[in-house]
Amino acid sequence: MKQNPLLELPALPTFSQIKVHHIVPAIDYLLDDNKKQVEQLLNATEQYTWDNLVQPMEELDERLSRTWSPVSHMNSVVNAKELREAYNACLPKISNYSTEMGQNKRLDAAFKYIANSSEFKQLHHAQQKIINNQLRDFRLSGVELDEQDKRKYKTLMETLTQLNSKFEENVLDATHAWTKHIADEKLLDGLPESTKQLAQQAANTKEKTGWLLTLEFPSYYPTMCYADSRQLREEMYEAYVTRASDEGPHKGKWDNSEIMADILAARYDSAQLLGFNNYAERSLASKMAKDPAQVVSFLTDLAERSLPMAKAELDELRQYAEQQHQQTQLEAWDIAYYSEKLRQHKYAISQQELKPYFPEKKVLQGMFAVVSRLYGLHIEAQQGIDTWHKDVHFFNILDSNDQLRGQFYLDLYARENKRGGAWMDEYSTRMKRNSTTQTPVAYLTCNFSPPIGHDPALFTHDEVLTLFHEFGHGLHHMLTQVDYPSVSGISGVAWDAVELPSQFMENWCWQREALNLISGHYQTGEPLPENLFEKMLAAKNFQAGMQMVRQLELALFDFRLHLNYDPQQGARIFDVLDEVRHHVAVIKPPSFNRFPHSFSHIFAGGYAAGYYSYKWAEVLSSDAFAKFEEKGIFDRPTGLQFLTSILEQGGSKEPMELFIEFRGREPQIDALLRHSGISAMDA
Ligand code: ZN
Repeated sequence: MKQNPLLELPALPTFSQIKVHHIVPAIDYLLDDNKKQVEQLLNATEQYTWDNLVQPMEELDERLSRTWSPVSHMNSVVNAKELREAYNACLPKISNYSTEMGQNKRLDAAFKYIANSSEFKQLHHAQQKIINNQLRDFRLSGVELDEQDKRKYKTLMETLTQLNSKFEENVLDATHAWTKHIADEKLLDGLPESTKQLAQQAANTKEKTGWLLTLEFPSYYPTMCYADSRQLREEMYEAYVTRASDEGPHKGKWDNSEIMADILAARYDSAQLLGFNNYAERSLASKMAKDPAQVVSFLTDLAERSLPMAKAELDELRQYAEQQHQQTQLEAWDIAYYSEKLRQHKYAISQQELKPYFPEKKVLQGMFAVVSRLYGLHIEAQQGIDTWHKDVHFFNILDSNDQLRGQFYLDLYARENKRGGAWMDEYSTRMKRNSTTQTPVAYLTCNFSPPIGHDPALFTHDEVLTLFHEFGHGLHHMLTQVDYPSVSGISGVAWDAVELPSQFMENWCWQREALNLISGHYQTGEPLPENLFEKMLAAKNFQAGMQMVRQLELALFDFRLHLNYDPQQGARIFDVLDEVRHHVAVIKPPSFNRFPHSFSHIFAGGYAAGYYSYKWAEVLSSDAFAKFEEKGIFDRPTGLQFLTSILEQGGSKEPMELFIEFRGREPQIDALLRHSGISAMDA
């Protein structure tokens, strides 16, 4: 065990030392040792206190999560067969461990003892929150069930963990199984030069000549937006929207159909065991939203306000395609293509045109300058850090007192064996041990276009928005001043409030003053020209109504899938989707579309009956940003207030309480509607 780098708990993981054979023994040892230590803590006394029970348990949890973190991270970003096997071998063990802890009656009683003791009132509010959260989580783990139901619950949790992982594996494998080799450049007409170069680079790495298109986002998305060949777009669209399903070029292979049905059934059963009517109720038990009715009416109301605009936008697109391009029948694979043409027609601007102004280095420096002006932070790169891939960078965040506040890894480019999308994850969390404070460490992961040839990586404005978003999550995790890991940083933050700091950061990407910091032509250094900026702003809400209803469609689909699940009828995935679309969608995709089969957020991630959180939190983030619009976007006192009221507080208080502390009142929807170009007066 001494030789196991996973158990040495260094300040930063020693990635190059971690081998697949270390994983299972490390986890086995820790799970076993944690259980023994918890037993000892419970046996040592009958008068439980923060110091003799909760604090040591926080440390045990932190130790486990720091051991598991590099494993689960590597499984996402450098996935390989053996690693995947070891990772999957640990999942049921960890799931069982956490269910056993959650169902431990003595532990529950010990926490209740502290909650009712005279000590409780003396504790810091963060400590009180941890104890209250823990008591809630005991209930949600089935501590009150009889032995038979407890076992049932445990099996369900184990099954769910495995199903979620299998779902994600299928998506990853299906994504990488499809490529399109192109020998005749004419087929690529319309594609931006950078997308062609990327395809050429992809072909080269496979020792092929010509061009290779893939379903990774930097290849897929520009092809859908720009390829003149309708046939190519159709072929690629079909491959993309049928990944891991019973349709399309790989139909039946990696098919998630049954897995999705099993996931929904297991979630329903687990919710029933705990006394909820359905999994949507279970999901809301730890969220800011009060009950399912509140979520449904929030989403439906927003859909009603947005639909007229979405319909008008689609009409405009249809007319434009017909009048300017003689395209009378718009298919799903035409929407992005003609939308991009219409955008250029109306605003004379394309995503591609902006790219030269957003080279990687400039964007990063600019983003750091933005948070320096807002919060007085200073961010510097550190070389020579042991990472999982040569493209990964590492940074330190220092505050205005030169105090090290956090550290993060940045892994920006799409590549094979890396899960798609963008996310923030944590290695370590702020915590006080004796008199030393542990520094929070985060991983920021994106899937942007890599550098091509000798040019630096050039980002689209959308990619810049994504980077700011993930950095917002990172700051929430790293700037926390809470010393107890369970409610420090993003830990313990209600899931429907957790997107507040991330979506909030995106706003700066639309501000002239901020763009002066984050843009600079990669050849001339010239900042984004005024005429391009004005066009960009004019185009900001292009098809905002269509985007809004699409997000609401996903959110309502997810929520209703869990809210209306009926074991007699089974999953009814496409029935529910059709019902939702009937009410809120303006675009009806073709019948072979299987987007739920790769909807990892709700089938593999933590967004089950929680996808609405993005819109819910966007109300908060828009309203929070509105205060900067009132006071000045770089107003330091407002920045510091956001820092101290929201970012530093983590999950130590209820999100509503923190929001009111910052804003002086409860959130209002007006700012979101205004920012989206949907007037508050319409509905
Ligand atoms: Zn996010």
